[in-house]
Parts: sequence; structure tokens; C-alpha cells
Amino acid sequence: MRCAIIPVYCAGTARRTTYTKAWLERLGGALSAYYATQSGGRAALSCTAFEWQQLPLTTQQWIAAGTQAGRDVVAWMASDGLVSRDDFDHFVLLIDDAISSGGRTPHDAPETSLVAAVGVSPALVAHELGHRFGAVHTFLDSPDGPIQYGGPYCVMGSENGKHSFLDASLAVPAEGAPSPARNGPGMCFANLLNTGWADVDAHALKLEPYSDGTLGAVVQLAALDGAPPAGRPGLPVACVIELEDRYQVEYRSPTTHYDQDVPNAAKPAAGDLVVYRSPADGALQTLQVAAVAAEAGAVLSIVDPALAQALARKTGGTPGSFRLVVLGVDPGGRSVSFRVERTLGKPPFFDRTEGLMDYLRWALVDQPLPAHDDPVLTMLKALAEIHDLQRLQRISGPRDRAALARVLRRRQGDLVHLAGRIQERLDEPS
Ligand SMILES: [Zn+2]
Repeated sequence: MRCAIIPVYCAGTARRTTYTKAWLERLGGALSAYYATQSGGRAALSCTAFEWQQLPLTTQQWIAAGTQAGRDVVAWMASDGLVSRDDFDHFVLLIDDAISSGGRTPHDAPETSLVAAVGVSPALVAHELGHRFGAVHTFLDSPDGPIQYGGPYCVMGSENGKHSFLDASLAVPAEGAPSPARNGPGMCFANLLNTGWADVDAHALKLEPYSDGTLGAVVQLAALDGAPPAGRPGLPVACVIELEDRYQVEYRSPTTHYDQDVPNAAKPAAGDLVVYRSPADGALQTLQVAAVAAEAGAVLSIVDPALAQALARKTGGTPGSFRLVVLGVDPGGRSVSFRVERTLGKPPFFDRTEGLMDYLRWALVDQPLPAHDDPVLTMLKALAEIHDLQRLQRISGPRDRAALARVLRRRQGDLVHLAGRIQERLDEPS
């Protein structure tokens, strides 16, 4: 795609930016690099920067033109010989005025993007070009329904909400660089499908439950970093779990260039596993429903609303869920292994100690526990987690087993500490 980047201002308007054509060339280079990575080399984006153009329009006339403003400007520039329409597939208009903010790529003029010059960044312009490549906004699930722009692990989320990073290569004061110039994050897997660059059969691992409805599998995923380049064999970059709804899981690592601002708080975690939900039929959706730190031993339990209903009907049991347990992350944060498990919706029965621990895990780890300060409850939960980790350790390969052993030692230390707290309480004079 050949893209023109044209900075404009209206006659008689005070300007708010000072950046130069040289900086816009830098921006264009950043966008080309971004889409080379996201497309895995499938889309060639070339950008051409223009000098500032004073429009034969007032700010009022620009506003009145609405979604057609970009087309009007291109038509005017073409008639004056300033641009040849045949040379470009897309036109990004940067408008420097007192009121514009954000950006949009109008449905009724899809070959143009209108972006406020004052807020320009690779993250924002890449979002607008994403529309042109076929990507859609990301959503975040909430009790009040999906929040548009809410998915932060994709460039198609909102500015200031998505995990963009400060791009030092664009901080060039001598070129009047706007600050801060944010870049990234990469695209989520569903949007890489929407653009046609990724392919479920080639790049994702599909999981289906056994005939009795249960599921148990260990999955290893590479950190998502755009659609994998053609002909380069490697780990899958997404896992699609085919239940009553479909869930897609992707691993987002801060060691990936465009994902360097992805949370990495719980060190030595290396980024997050992110889960999206889609209906059983049709395309995978950009609706994020959960995320969990990629840290050995981290558990994410997901209640599937459709599954919960089906199981309630079938078994008279409690809402069913599936769970992801992180087994290990490679030291460079380039791949993660986790176990996907689904048991039937009833609480596990217990007639031996083993079963009792499974019950505690189900009751205290898998169910959302309200905030409390009860050391006994916390200790029971810690015991159940240790039991669960030991079980996972038994069924893991050597590499994950070592990672889980480290987590187990830490959890056992926590348990000793908790026991001490309980002892202190008992010692308190009543
Ligand atoms: Zn948008």
C-alpha cells in the first residue's frame, strides 16, 4: 500500500505543531516497519511525507466538509499539481488546528484518514491504517457488556488505553518531534486474521474437548509478534479452544519489540496470557475476556456463560469453567507453556484426602473468593494451590517441572509464614 502523509492547516489558523517533513519521513519509516512485522512480510507499506500545505479553506469549512474533508484536500492538491492520485492508495491528512483530536478513517471515504496533527504518533496512525487493512476495534468484556476500544493488547484499542511504548527513535527535538511519540502494541491474533495475514490452520493450535466434555492438554505458544513469516516453521502463536463458545489464547511478551509496554509487574513473569471469546460459528472476535501474568503457577479460571447454562441443564450442577495454569516461561520471554483443563461442572467429590484437596482447589482457587483477611482461609487456599502445583508437576515435562519446583518452594515458604501468623493470633491474649 502506497500511503501519502500530508500535513495541512487552514488559512488564518494558529498552528500548534512545528514538526518537519524530515520527522514525518521518520514516522512513515516507523509505520512501514510496524506493518512489515505485523503482516509477516505480506503487506508492503510505503509512506511518502509531504511539506506542510496551507489549505484554501477556513477551519469552519474544514469542519463542514466532515468525512469528505480528506477527499476535498486531495482533489484540491491534485488540481494544483501538488499530488498525483494515481501514485497513492491511501492519504493520511494531519490537520493542525485548535480543536481537532484523535483520528478517524471514514467509512464513506475509506482511502483517507483524518488525524489531528497535535496528537500524531505511530500508534495512532497505525490504528487508522489498520482499518484500511481490514482490522476492527478491540473490545473488553465487562459486567455491562463489551467496551469498544477496550482491548489494550492491540493497536486497534484506544489511545492512552492500549499498551503503547515511548518510541525513542522518534524523539528528535531538532525535527520538532511531537512528544510523546508512542508506538505499538502489536495486533491481536483475531485482527491478524481480519487482515488476512495470519491463518488459523497454519498458525494456531486447536483444542477440542474429549467426548465426555472434559479437556486436559499442555500447550506451548510462541510470543505473538505479528503473523509469522511464511515458510518459517515454529510454535503456534495462538490456541483456539473449541467449547460451546470459542476462546483464543495468545501470549504477549514485553521482550517483543512492539509489546515492550505490556505489563511485566509480577517479575519474573514475562508478560501476559490474553484470552478472547468468540461465538462457536463465524470469525474469531476481538473481545478480550481475561488476562493473566505469564508466571509459573498462575491460574486463570474462566466461567463460560454458555457452558454454565448447558451444564446446569444437563447435570443440575454448578457453573462449569475451564482453567489455564501457567507451567513455565522460557527465560527470554519468547514462549510460554500452560495447561488447559476443563472438568465437568459439579464440584469434585472426595472420599480420600486427594479428593478433598481437589475440592478445596475447586472451592477456593477456581471460584472467585471475596476479599477477606482470614489467615485460615488463606492457608487452606495455599494448601490447595500447592497440591494443584504438585499434580501439575507430576504430569509436566522436565523443563516445566523445574519451573514449577521453584514456584512450589516459594509457595511452601508462604505457607510457613501463614502458619506463623495463625500461631501469633492464637497466642494473642483474648
Ligand atoms: Zn478506529
